[in-house]
Amino acid sequence: MTLVDNAETRSSETSDLDFDAIVIGAGMSGMYQLYRLRELGLKVRVLEAGTGVGGTWYWNRYPGARFDSESYSYGYSFSQEVLDEWDWQECFSGQPEIERYCNFVADKFDLRSDIQFSARVASSHFNEDANCWDITLADGTRYRTRYLVAAIGLLSAPTMPRFEGIEDFKGQWCHTGLWPKEGLDFSGKRVAVVGTGASGVQAIQEISKTAEHLTVFQRRPNWCTPLHNRPIPKEEMEEIRAGYPEMFTLCQQTAACFVHTIDPRGTFEVTEEERMEFWEGRYAGQGFGIWQGNFRDMLTDREANRLMSEFVADKIRKRVKDPETAEMLIPKDHGFGTRRVPQETHYYEVYNKPNVKLVSMLEHPIERITETGIRTSEQDYEFDVIIYATGFDAVTGTFDRIDFRGTGGQRLKERWTGGPKTFLGLMVDGFPNMFMIMGPHAALGNNPRSIEFNVEWVRGLIGYMEERKLAVAEASAEAVADWNAFVHMKGEGLLVNEVDSWMTGINMNVEGKQTRTIVRYSGTAPEYRAKCNEVAADGYQELKFS
Ligand code: NAP
Repeated sequence: MTLVDNAETRSSETSDLDFDAIVIGAGMSGMYQLYRLRELGLKVRVLEAGTGVGGTWYWNRYPGARFDSESYSYGYSFSQEVLDEWDWQECFSGQPEIERYCNFVADKFDLRSDIQFSARVASSHFNEDANCWDITLADGTRYRTRYLVAAIGLLSAPTMPRFEGIEDFKGQWCHTGLWPKEGLDFSGKRVAVVGTGASGVQAIQEISKTAEHLTVFQRRPNWCTPLHNRPIPKEEMEEIRAGYPEMFTLCQQTAACFVHTIDPRGTFEVTEEERMEFWEGRYAGQGFGIWQGNFRDMLTDREANRLMSEFVADKIRKRVKDPETAEMLIPKDHGFGTRRVPQETHYYEVYNKPNVKLVSMLEHPIERITETGIRTSEQDYEFDVIIYATGFDAVTGTFDRIDFRGTGGQRLKERWTGGPKTFLGLMVDGFPNMFMIMGPHAALGNNPRSIEFNVEWVRGLIGYMEERKLAVAEASAEAVADWNAFVHMKGEGLLVNEVDSWMTGINMNVEGKQTRTIVRYSGTAPEYRAKCNEVAADGYQELKFS
């Protein structure tokens, strides 16, 4: 740690602060950060673009939106009261219940009194003269704060395809991540869904139930596996509650904070019979068990991955009646689990319905959107509604949309050209007193578990600074370079990093995001937490306090 004794200058230079801390975003990260920073006696304001709390679970209100993690493992763990009072209704709860949960937490801790809604941050500039951040909202309002926490999510900048004529369409259209609060009624309508990632798969299952006709436009198929959702009876919820301590401990031990544990055996260390029995069990089991609880080499050994992919391909062939459609739904360009696995409930059976048609955009690309529908290279389709389930400018995209400028006026977006570089996913050199929750190169997975850890780490550092009256903390360039090298080293040999997806920084709809980069930390969460804890325990040697 480098320390300049500046207790006096700190208060006099920044007497015109509006807040001690500004948190951008009132999703699960921002809500919890507010709660923790209040504990330090700080004056905190959360700036939220929406009109309610929940972030992801506020915006993504498309039909079928639900957890892919077990509900009880996804809630906050920090408050015994919340754990005692909240009963999850389903093993994998739907968006309405999740939004209710976020509101329940906000009400319990009176979070709303420090949250400003409909406040979209346009820019955040570090002011080197006053050692603080100058924030400007889209409506021109300005705030000054000492600490800035970007709790803006890693999948919260929706992206539309670059089709010609999108605005020409005379029917209704929207993106799954910007779903209208009043909802959309599909009954008696001809509906198109473009995109078959996790959002598209969830939406397609539901929309097919009420639409008169549904046409799914699929570019590259994904490997989807059964969610096996069900309600949680009251008595079972009591058992879950009694088991919370053990369950949260387990989440701290697993690689990506899920309740599923990787099988320590290699794919070829068991007989073929044992292997098939194991995979059948996983396919019949709940949630991500088949992805996060598979053989240890499933995502590193090509042959193991090929066999697993064949296993799932056979399931698809058995579930989809028309063999040609089944083949269209089987990925040919990537192996199982190398992209995020969408979780499904009768998804494949949707394609057996007479009112559903699958169009492969690999064979017949969309040429343009017309006033009445969609024109592919093959034919014109007429629709009443078009849904774009086309994903997000992930990980760095939410940062790119705010004009973050650090010391010397440097732009964060430019610093991250060619891939993000951070210290622990929490800080960036040249951006003093700015912290990120779930930033690039932080541990992801079952996100609330990582959110709680990141928030508490930031609280720890700010508490450390407050105690010592330190004005500014900044990650050193060496610390950022070291962390970057470590993250890249951890990504070596993983099949997931050889495939195009948001997890490798690819978004064909966004300028400059066509080259694979390491945007995620691919080590284990326990290792990540150990590194972060070590930094704090050693008095933040990697930071410059000045
Ligand atoms: P996504 O996985 O990026 O999928 C986007 C889909 O749109 C892909 O099928 C993509 O095809 C297609 N697409 C995009 N642009 C296109 C274009 N110009 N032309 C044709 N097709 C286009 O996005 P997502 O489904 O919203 O999911 C993103 C992430 O959000 C997930 O991976 C997951 O982490 C998270 N999520 C979580 C949950 C949950 O936990 N319950 C639910 C939904 C989403 P290509 O594959 O060919 O690019």
